[in-house]
Amino acid sequence: MSALQNSGRLPATAYEGATMYTTLSPCDMCTGACILFKVKRVVIGENETFVGGETYLKERGVQVVVFDNGECKALMRTFIHEKPEVWYAQSPGPHEEGPGVV
Ligand SMILES: [Zn+2]
Repeated sequence: MSALQNSGRLPATAYEGATMYTTLSPCDMCTGACILFKVKRVVIGENETFVGGETYLKERGVQVVVFDNGECKALMRTFIHEKPEVWYAQSPGPHEEGPGVV
């Protein structure tokens, strides 16, 4: 969502066919935003910490690529360790499906 917001006030058609790069598997909100904005491909750094709407994206014709990247996993471990209140405050959120990486 932040990436879409930070890209400016562009019409939804500007994102058609775009590729979205994410550190972590997208949550339900970000999955919906990708569908709404007709993003063509979602490249995910890692989905070990949390698995989001990947199946739903695929069912809607979005190409999903998962890198299983160690740097992204380390980034998420650091984030969850340093800001557990942010990670666990999301409801419904990643904590419901995540393996509890803290
Ligand atoms: Zn999200």
